[in-house]
Amino acid sequence: MPSTTPARAAAAAEPRSVYFDNAASTPLDPAVLDAMLPYLREHYGNASSQHSYGRRLRGVVETARRTIAGLLNAAPNEIFFTSGGTESDNYAAIGTIRTLGLTHAISSPLEHHAVLHTLQALERVGDIRLSYVRHDAQGRLDLNHLEELLTTHPRSFVSLMHANNELGNLNDVEAIGRLCVRHNAIFHTDTVQTMGHYRHNVRLLQNHFLVGSAHKFHGPKGTGFLYRSAGLPVQPLLHGGSQERHVRPGTENIPGIVGLAKALEIAYQGLDEHRRYVQGLKDQLIRRLQAEVEGVQFNGLSAEAEQSLYTILSVSLPPSPRNAELLSTLDLNRVAVSGGSACTSGDKAGSHVLSALGTDPDRATLRLSLSRYNTADEVEYAVAQIANLFRAELV
Ligand code: PLP
Repeated sequence: MPSTTPARAAAAAEPRSVYFDNAASTPLDPAVLDAMLPYLREHYGNASSQHSYGRRLRGVVETARRTIAGLLNAAPNEIFFTSGGTESDNYAAIGTIRTLGLTHAISSPLEHHAVLHTLQALERVGDIRLSYVRHDAQGRLDLNHLEELLTTHPRSFVSLMHANNELGNLNDVEAIGRLCVRHNAIFHTDTVQTMGHYRHNVRLLQNHFLVGSAHKFHGPKGTGFLYRSAGLPVQPLLHGGSQERHVRPGTENIPGIVGLAKALEIAYQGLDEHRRYVQGLKDQLIRRLQAEVEGVQFNGLSAEAEQSLYTILSVSLPPSPRNAELLSTLDLNRVAVSGGSACTSGDKAGSHVLSALGTDPDRATLRLSLSRYNTADEVEYAVAQIANLFRAELV
């Protein structure tokens, strides 16, 4: 890539707006929308009805289930449709702990709140004791500590994510799975950020649960699934009809389920190419930020290609009086990113992940998260906008 001065890059890309918040939600793939539209327009029945409208939709739901199962090398009866990642995480944790009468859970302070708050709520009502695996300043989990915890508390519920949604850090879920098997633990992995970005093969993993949320891989919002390994009995959280084999009652979101399956199918078809492309954009971002922003750092393992998710870069910016307006200034300049700061006591709005890592609260964090719809020009434009903020600071 030819080197471009920030001013020229900004001028060249002036009219564009840049969406670098794909870890929050991704744009819908037009082919996914096309697949969904007939189920919003023409096929409006209820999949539980006995007439032809209902029977057609029942077939559609089961086809989507087989598609997802096939991609994960799972059996269709191991896939349950839900409203997304949060519900799937809650289902796995609450359903398993209650059904199996587990009294101890192991997680990490770096987990998403969909897991952390769920387990903490169970601890508050006295259902479980919760232990946290230690991690280092980069967010690497201490698997020796996990083994110690599992030795002291066999048959625990273990919830450790595949990729961290703020840092992009990847956990070694194969190694964690082996430890869980050895200690007879139930292993749930929040795969919300990696579903559709890595190939998950449930026959090679030792997981009891994986989760998917369509809007993280160019599908619609409010639809997702839970993979639950066969043979694990788990009570429903909701009570009602017989949908999803009584496990998750409620009228099926047919357009959502169709879009979910289509989005995952497209993601798997293009996975290697998309991965190379997006990793290239991330490498460019790292290089250009290092060249243009003095004192830039990267949180956790975010800049380590082998140890982090290729869609997320967590950027740590030097202390500056302008850091408080960083996000809004970038937004005014048409660059959409997420922020983050370490929580200091009393500052509940801060990031629990950065706080757990002990990052300097005076440095600002930007989470830049990419997708296959982003371009190298957008990287140049965004870097120029970030660099300009620091340049303006100097004058
Ligand atoms: N888990 C992780 C790691 C996430 O990043 C998210 C969403 O950002 C969730 C769970 C929640 O997923 P959903 O938005 O589908 O409820």
